[in-house]
Amino acid sequence: MKVLDLQCGQQHVFEGWFASEDDFSDQFGRGLVTCPVCGDPQVQKMLSAPRLNLRAARQEPAATPGHGRASASKHRGGGAVAGPSVAAFQAQLLQAMRQVVASAEDVGDRFADQARAMHQGEVESRNIRGRTTPEVAMELAEEGIDVLPLPDLSVLKETLQ
Ligand SMILES: [Zn+2]
Repeated sequence: MKVLDLQCGQQHVFEGWFASEDDFSDQFGRGLVTCPVCGDPQVQKMLSAPRLNLRAARQEPAATPGHGRASASKHRGGGAVAGPSVAAFQAQLLQAMRQVVASAEDVGDRFADQARAMHQGEVESRNIRGRTTPEVAMELAEEGIDVLPLPDLSVLKETLQ
């Protein structure tokens, strides 16, 4: 598994996971590597590798100068270096929210009723979304019902494709 730090033409930074360097080159060549934030196919590898290489090289005996790169990428793959960038995290979060919204049944104003009915086993459990007031959402939470507040649902729905 090869984890690459990538950056699109709009300066969004994200991680790309590939089977190998060749796999990346192949997908990149066919235009399959796009920015998760804006869909820009003009992605390029970030220049963070040399910095990692320098750090790794310092920790290694001077007798093995050729191993800096290999050791650095192994280190990177182990996840010991800083995690995904903020931009990548935001993109993942937005995508996850869109998936929740897309897969959930819209019960509209019956949200609280449906949530309680599911909680009490009166109806089959499923993902639902709908509208409720902050006060009712608080009551549901106190009754032990998991409620996930979503930021402006209409905006998420509009961007659903
Ligand atoms: Zn982008």
